[in-house]
Parts: sequence; C-alpha cells; structure tokens
Amino acid sequence: MALIVQKYGGTSVGSVERIQAVAQRVLQTAQAGNSVVVVVSAMGKTTDGLVKLAYEISASPSRREMDMLLSTGEQVSIALLSMALQELGQPAISLTGAQVGIVTEAAHTRARILNIATDRLEQHLQNGQVVIVAGFQGVSSANSLEITTLGRGGSDTSAVALAAALRADLCEIYTDVPGILTADPRLVPDAQLMSEITSDEMLELASLGAKVLHPRAVEIARNYGVLLVVRSSWTDDPGTKVLSPVPQPRPLEGLEIAHPVDGVEFDTDQAKIALLRVPDRPGIAARLFGEIASQDLDVDLIIQSIHEGNTNDIAFTVTKNSATHAEAVASALIPALGGGQPVSDAEVLVEQQIAKVAIAGAGMIGRPGVAAQMFSTLADAGINIQMISTSEVKVSCVIDAVECDRAIAALCGVFEVRQSGVRRQETSFELSRLKPQVNEAQNSKLKTQNMPPPVRGVALDQNQARLAIRHIPDRPGMAARIFRLLADQKVSVDMIIQSQRCRIVDGVTTRDIAFTVAAIDAETARTALINAATDLGCGEITVDAEIAKVSIVGSGMVNQPGVAARMFAALAQNQINIQMIATSEIKISSVVAKDQGVQALQAIHAAFGLSGAEKIQVST
Ligand code: ADP
Ligand code: ASP
Ligand code: MG
Repeated sequence: MALIVQKYGGTSVGSVERIQAVAQRVLQTAQAGNSVVVVVSAMGKTTDGLVKLAYEISASPSRREMDMLLSTGEQVSIALLSMALQELGQPAISLTGAQVGIVTEAAHTRARILNIATDRLEQHLQNGQVVIVAGFQGVSSANSLEITTLGRGGSDTSAVALAAALRADLCEIYTDVPGILTADPRLVPDAQLMSEITSDEMLELASLGAKVLHPRAVEIARNYGVLLVVRSSWTDDPGTKVLSPVPQPRPLEGLEIAHPVDGVEFDTDQAKIALLRVPDRPGIAARLFGEIASQDLDVDLIIQSIHEGNTNDIAFTVTKNSATHAEAVASALIPALGGGQPVSDAEVLVEQQIAKVAIAGAGMIGRPGVAAQMFSTLADAGINIQMISTSEVKVSCVIDAVECDRAIAALCGVFEVRQSGVRRQETSFELSRLKPQVNEAQNSKLKTQNMPPPVRGVALDQNQARLAIRHIPDRPGMAARIFRLLADQKVSVDMIIQSQRCRIVDGVTTRDIAFTVAAIDAETARTALINAATDLGCGEITVDAEIAKVSIVGSGMVNQPGVAARMFAALAQNQINIQMIATSEIKISSVVAKDQGVQALQAIHAAFGLSGAEKIQVST
C-alpha cells in the first residue's frame, strides 16, 4: 500500500461539479488500497477576489490581516471536498494548516515551512480516512497560533512539504494543463508536453515565470527526493515527472530553511572579454554570439548591462585558451557594428587573470540574505567583485584569479559547506578530455543525435521591474552593502548585473549596477536605496517597470555553443532590442520591453523547434 499526496489547484476545484469529480479520483486512489492525503487550493479565483476586497478597503493592508483573509479560501474547499467524499461513502476529514501542525516562520504572506507534525495525520490515515489539508497556510508556532500563508501559488509547496514529512511514495500535482509544457500554453498555444524534466531545470523555469509549479515546491522535492508528478485533473494521462537526484540526508526540522547553500564552486580556467560601447539596437548580441559560436567557442557567463546614451556593454567569459580567439572575433566585429556609422569608441577588453566563484543551492530561492551574505563575505576578505551573474539557485561572481583560494575558503566557512564542492575546473578538464575530436559536420550530427536538446522550456515574467544605480564607487563591499540593504527590506533580487565600464566621478572610479526585482517590491527597493544613496556615495537611482524577462532553460545548453546566439537571433529577427542579459549554466535570460514580451517568448519558442502539432487545451 502506497502513501500518496495529491494536490488539486483552484481551477480543479472551481465548482461543485469539479469538486465532485476530484472526490471520484481521490476515492479511486483510496479504493486501490492507498493512503491518501489531499491538499487543495481555494476554489477558482477566490484568492484573487479576496485580495481585491482587501485593496478596496486599504491601499496597504496589514500582512497579518491579509493572512487571516486569504487563508479562508482553502478552508471552504477542504470542507466541501471532505463532504463530497463522505457522500461517496469514503471516510474523510478536513484539517487546516494549524490543525495539522504545519509550523512556519512568522513572516506573514511569505512564510517558509519549518516543520510539519505528522502524528495527527498518521492517526487519521490509520483510521482509514482520507485527510484533506488546506494548502498555502500554516501557523507561526505552536504557542502563538498566528495564521500564516506561504505566498501566492503556495499550495504546491504545502503538498510537497507534506509528502517529504510523511515520506510519501508519490506527490501528484493535479492542475488545468496536461503537465509541464515547453511554455505557458496561454501565451504559446503550440507548446508541447514534456514527459519528464529535471528538478534543476524546473527550478529555473518555475522561478522565471512558469507558474505551473511553485518554485519552493520544486526545491523541497529536490532536497528531499520527493517523487513529483504534474498531471491534468481532467484526464488519466501520465503528465510530467520531475526528476530529482538522490538527495543528501537532511533533517525534516527547519524543512525550508536549513542549508540554503549546498556547494561552493569555482573555475579558474576562465577569461573575461568585454565589448564596450557597442550600439544599442537589435541584432548586436545575435551577431557577436553568432560569430563566437561559429568558431565553436563555448561561452559561459554572458552579461549585458544597462545602457547609457545609445551604447551597451556586453561581457562574457570563455575558457582561457579560447580568450585570444574570442578577442579576435569580437575585435573583428567592431567595424561592422555601426551599420554604416563609425563606432570609433567601441573597444574590446580582455582580462585573463580572473576566477569565477559561485554558491549553489536550491534553498536560496526567495532568501535575499544569502546573496548579500556572499557579497559581504567577499568584501570582508577584501575581494572586489568584477561581474555578478545570478540565477535562482546560483550566484556567480567573477573576481581576480589571485583571490580565488581565499574566496573559496571564506565562502565554505560562512555557508558551512566543505571545500570539496563541485570543482568546475576538474569537471571542465574531464569534459574537454572526453569531448571527441570531430569535424564540424560530424559535430553537428553528434549534437543532434547524442546531445540532449539544448533548450527544454521557455518562460516569460512580466511582473518584474528594473532598478539601476549609477556611479557606485568600485571597491570591495559596495555590492554587499546594497544587497544587504535590500535583503533587510525582504526584497529578493533576481538578475544582478554590474557594468563593465568604469567612470571616474570626482576622482573615484565608479560602475553602475542594475538588477531586477518583483514589480511589487520596486518601490520598497527604490526608497531604501534613495535613503542610503548619500551614505553609499552613489549617483542616480532609476526604476523601469516597462520590462519583461524572457528566458530559455535546459541542462543541454552546457557545452553546446550557439544556444545564446540562436536566442538573440530570434529576438533580432523580430526587431526586439535586448536591454539586459544574464546567464547561468542552464539558463539565459534577456530583458526586453514589456510590450514585446509575448512576441519574444513566441519567437524564441519557435526558434528552438519546441512547437508541437497539437494545441493544448486550457480550462478556465
Ligand atoms: P493551479 O491552480 O492548478 O495551481 P496554476 O494556475 O497555478 O494552477 O498553474 C497552472 C498554469 O500555469 C497553467 O494554466 C498555465 O497557464 C501556467 N503555465 C505557465 N507556464 C507553464 C508551463 N511551462 N507548463 C504548463 N503550464 C504553465
Ligand atoms: N489559493 C492560493 C493562491 O491563489 C494558493 C494556491 O492556489 O496555490 O495563490
Ligand atoms: Mg498553482
């Protein structure tokens, strides 16, 4: 007999008929001899309706009262589903998060789960009851009994956390689409179903806007090795499996907060190439990375910072032995970049003595303090950061090569991970040894035959804003101070990009930093920075909410040159200008104008051949 946790989303329990249909499926699972714990969301768009009511009364409702209000939605659906099961003759009981003992941090509206008491649940299961648990909610501690919620979309997280705590055999997420698709079918109607996806890829996709799974749910599945499947509520089709590696043993205590960082990685075999003052118009990045890819040079990090005037800076890293070649390619391109106009002030800089150090771990999602702690650790060691590139599960910094050992030691100490974290230098050495020596024709055949597809899915996030801080003194500790300030305001920062170009202001060398945050946090971030501007000694702070972030994700892009070039070319062909670029090993994100976001998503989806013949039906 298996123990199965099933979660049904809002649309799946959106009406009496749908609740009855869910009850039938739960009944079948129970009658097949399984113990079943069901997690449900609020019916249909109930939570949206409650949020709207709150804002009709107050422009800034208290977070505590928001939790009191929003948690009511799930209380309705659990009771109704329990009644529906009882009507079918299946013993069932509904429980709120507090009744189960889902204990969270006290952070209202975005609480993380600390632990889940399982005794009460297990008792009911032993009595032959199906237990129906309210998703999205918990209680701040056994003593204070403050109701908390986990953040919008958090029922997925409740379900996977329950599955981890109960050591369930399977966690099934039932929703209104057939599973995880190559893109949101509401925006890309010819998106295709994936039969499986790795938890690393799904973590990126979920945090880049694919709301089919709450990123924290994926994080828990990955950390605890929960077998996770996303399926349609309307069919018996198998859906999509989310594959996790065998996890390191971890305690259930501090479920969502223990060990934000799993490893410190480094790579000293990198060189940085920066192309400064290139024209800010569609097609430049596509051209540059197209040329680089055609020479089979593998690019690791790419960043393009905010532009000033009508030029951009683009920086990227390649392996050291490719640096001269990449520099030549970039330099040869300069005369052609102007489109007939002279580009006299564009230049290529090469920095050979660099190292990339990174912290990695699924537990850093939504915890802005972790990146800030990395920056302050480097600052305390007197190490200046030259480039920063972030993803939800990794923060990478480019530093001077001579400081690499000190950086690793300091980071391993602070995040309590052993120095034996993944050693990229060895990994890339082994990869290059293993890489067969083949000519270009064989190479592309090899790629199509044996390589995983470079891109698995694309995502669009239209709820971001970009902040830019001009003229930040270029010395150790500045990034640390800025991101600590934001972390203290609970603002999670997404793409962080430090410009390559230095400017001397009043005798001080300065750089610009731009980053994206959730649009709702933009004002908080702006105010915090403006208040600190004099102290920081920085210049103007600007906010741009008219942006969209479009991303491609796939583990297969590692060691496959040309993926970035294809993405940028798809944007250029549609006359879409790229405002910012940030990459990690398995994703590339570009910021574009908001009103071009959907077009950008569709163009990229098509460019990677992800479109299927069938149109996905989405229920409303
Ligand atoms: P639920 O209420 O079941 O939790 P959500 O609305 O939270 O459902 O998530 C399902 C929705 O996620 C789908 O209807 C779809 O529009 C959206 N979505 C975004 N990206 C993807 C993707 N890559 N695959 C599938 N669905 C996606
Ligand atoms: N009802 C909550 C929301 O709409 C939680 C969820 O559905 O996952 O955000
Ligand atoms: Mg959801």
